[in-house]
Amino acid sequence: MPRVTYVNGTYVPHHEATVHVEDRGYQFADAVYEVLAVIGGRLCHLDQHLDRLEHSLSALSIGAPVSRRVLSLIMARVVRLNRFTDGMLYLQISRGVAPRNHTFPADTLPSLVVSAWPHNGPSAEQVEQGVAVTTLPDQRWKRPDIKTVGLLPNVLARQSAKEAGAYEAWLVNGSGFITEGSATNAFIVARDGTLLTHPADTGVLSGVTRGNVLALARHLGLDVAERAFTVAEALTAREAFLTGTTVTVLPVTRIDGKPVGEGRPGPVTMNLRTLYQELRRK
Ligand code: PLP
Repeated sequence: MPRVTYVNGTYVPHHEATVHVEDRGYQFADAVYEVLAVIGGRLCHLDQHLDRLEHSLSALSIGAPVSRRVLSLIMARVVRLNRFTDGMLYLQISRGVAPRNHTFPADTLPSLVVSAWPHNGPSAEQVEQGVAVTTLPDQRWKRPDIKTVGLLPNVLARQSAKEAGAYEAWLVNGSGFITEGSATNAFIVARDGTLLTHPADTGVLSGVTRGNVLALARHLGLDVAERAFTVAEALTAREAFLTGTTVTVLPVTRIDGKPVGEGRPGPVTMNLRTLYQELRRK
């Protein structure tokens, strides 16, 4: 089935979907994005993603190219035209096309791109055995709460993790705390049983999955604290996992080559994974 992508007002075959060389997203990473899950043909947690998109746009003073309602209609149409039921949708808004100059251009329309593809999530082996993470210095700018396409430090960290035989890099800030992964949020079940993740301040992306998993955990009556944890705490944790739209809840069973707990996915992690998957299907 040929893919269809939306670019600035038109739906085109994916291989013809192009933007201008002077698009500011291309030249300055002057752009924001979202990735949403499509389940059973529906866009999951649409409002939460659109709220975060508005946060990113307003933090960078980029105007919305279309209203929230029209954006939702475009996204739904991209899903329909691509004719799959389970997959991912990517949307990017840049400040637009203008002669290269660092300052904001006047009267430039923001660019909007929406694409989608089928996606199955992590492999059965990754879920059953858990994945490995490595810890690396967090070398990103000081506003990772803004979901910009300026992802080079994330790309380098993920590549480094891959070369070390790991799935994800957990980023460690200057105070020795794990902020999040290169493309996922980081959680542990600490030695005392408390579920911990970094607070959703300007130091991390406020993951949609993170927020929903926290709400689910609180609903289940788990002890939950949004407080940063150190690498040492992660290494002595009972369980660890990461969250993100493309992976939902994925167990972490090795950190820097050392087993987490018994080295197998833990019960809290797997319960949250099952319930969260059910929640998304509803
Ligand atoms: N943290 C970072 C740095 C990310 O890039 C992402 C997703 O792209 C996440 C966390 C997870 O966010 P979400 O659950 O909204 O997919």
